[in-house]
Amino acid sequence: MSSKEGGLGAPIRHPLYWKEESFTDTSQLDTEMRRVFDVCHSCRRCFNLCDSFPRLFDLIDDSDSGELESVNSANFKSVEEACTLCDLCFLSKCPYVPPHEFNIDFPHLMLRYRYSQKIKKTGLSLVNKIMLNTDLTGKIGSYFAPILNWLFSKKNKLVRKFLQISAGIHKEAKLPEFHWKTFNKLFNKYRYKNQNRLGIHKRKVLVYTTCFVNYNMPSVASAALTVLQKNNIIVEFIYPECCGMPKLEAGDLQSVVSKARRISNKLLPWVDKGYEILTLTPSCGLMIKSEWQLLDPDNKKLKKISSATKDICEYISEFSKDNDFIFGKNNIKKNISLHIACHTKAQNIGIKSADMLRNIPDLNINIVDKCSGHGGSFGVKKNTYPLAKKYGKIASRKISSSEDTVIVSECPLAAQHLREVKNETNNNKTILNTYHPIEILAESYTDE
Ligand code: SF4
Ligand code: SF4
Ligand code: SF4
Repeated sequence: MSSKEGGLGAPIRHPLYWKEESFTDTSQLDTEMRRVFDVCHSCRRCFNLCDSFPRLFDLIDDSDSGELESVNSANFKSVEEACTLCDLCFLSKCPYVPPHEFNIDFPHLMLRYRYSQKIKKTGLSLVNKIMLNTDLTGKIGSYFAPILNWLFSKKNKLVRKFLQISAGIHKEAKLPEFHWKTFNKLFNKYRYKNQNRLGIHKRKVLVYTTCFVNYNMPSVASAALTVLQKNNIIVEFIYPECCGMPKLEAGDLQSVVSKARRISNKLLPWVDKGYEILTLTPSCGLMIKSEWQLLDPDNKKLKKISSATKDICEYISEFSKDNDFIFGKNNIKKNISLHIACHTKAQNIGIKSADMLRNIPDLNINIVDKCSGHGGSFGVKKNTYPLAKKYGKIASRKISSSEDTVIVSECPLAAQHLREVKNETNNNKTILNTYHPIEILAESYTDE
C-alpha cells in the first residue's frame, strides 16, 4: 500500500445518496464491493469481530488464485447476510474510515448491498413487513399479552415449530415478552404533573420512550421517571412510533426516512421549547443522532433534533459532573456484569453507563465489552440465530456465574440474549436476571 497507514482524524460518516441511480447500479456496486473487500483482504484486522469477515476471507483464501479477482460476486451475498450492522468495524477497528483516503465504511456498504439487491428488487416479504412493524406487533402483543406470551414461549414446542416454518423465527430463540400495561398506558394514567415544578436546574427533557421499552420493558421508562423526578428535572415522555432501526437492518431505507420525517415533526416543537431529547436504548439513539440524517442529509429538522438528543446515561453522566445530582446509596444488586452495546460504542460517547453507575457506592462492576451477537431480528431469525448464539457465547464467558450477578445493558435485547445463552451454558443452575443501568440507579434510592 502506497498510502499512509491509518487515519488520525475522527471518523466521518458520509451521507448515503440512496435515491441516486449509481447507488443501486449493479456494476458500480460490484466495483465498490471489490475495492473495499480488497483493502480488507490486505488488512484483516476484523477477522474476529463477526462472521462477515471470516466468510469474506475464506472466500478469498479458498479461491483459485487466493485473490479477490477469482471470487464470484454471487458469493458476496453470504458476507452481507452475516452483518448485523453493529458498526463495530467502522468505529472501533478500522483505520481506513473517512477522512482516510481509502474511505472504508463496511457496514454502510453492506446496507447498500441489502437495499440494492433485496429491497429495491422485491421489497420486504409479507412476513418481514409484519415482523419488523414493531408498533403493529407491539399493539397486538400487549393487548393479548398473557395469551401470546404463553403461546410463543419456547416451551410451546409445537407452536414454535410452526412459527419457524411459517415465519422463519428460530424455535429456540427467546422472544421478548409483551406487557399489557405499556408505558404509554401507565404514563397516561399516572401522568406526572410538571406544572408548578420549575426544576431546580431549570432542566427540561423529553424522553423518547422507544418501542421496546413501551411494549416490552416499561420498567425502564418508569425508572427513568424516578431518577429524573428525584433530581427535579422537568420530564415529559413521547412515543409517536418506532424509530425504524428494524427497517434499517432490513435495508428498507424509504420506510426509515418516512418514519424520521413523521417523528421529527412531533419532536421539533419540544426542541423549540428548550427540551433536550433523551433516548432509552442505544439503537434508537444512534438512529436519531446519526442514521436518520445520513439517509436524509438535506433535512434541517433532523440536524436540529440530532444535536438536541442524548442517550439517558450520557445525559446523567455529563449533567452530574457539573451539578449536584442525587445518586442513591442502596445498592441492592452489587455484582454487575455491565455489557457495553455496540450501538452505544457507535455513538462515540464513551462508556457513560459505567461512569454513571460508579457514583453508587460499593458496586462491583465488571465490563463486558463484546457484542452480544443479537443484532435485532438477526437474533431470532432461523438462518441467523445460530450465529447470534455463537457470538453470545463468546460474550457470556465474560459474565460471572455467581448467584448474586446481574446482567446490565443499555440494550435490552442484548441483555436478554446474553441471559439466555449464559443460563443455558450453566445448565440453568443459576438464573441471572437483566436490568437497564437506569433501573439500577432508580433502585439505589430505595428506602432513602
Ligand atoms: S457492522 Fe458489525 S456485523 Fe457488520 S461487518 Fe462490521 S463488525 Fe461485522
Ligand atoms: S473494515 Fe477496515 S479494519 Fe476491518 S478488515 Fe476492513 S479495512 Fe481492515
Ligand atoms: S443488539 Fe445491542 S449489542 Fe447487538 S448489535 Fe444491536 S445494539 Fe449492538
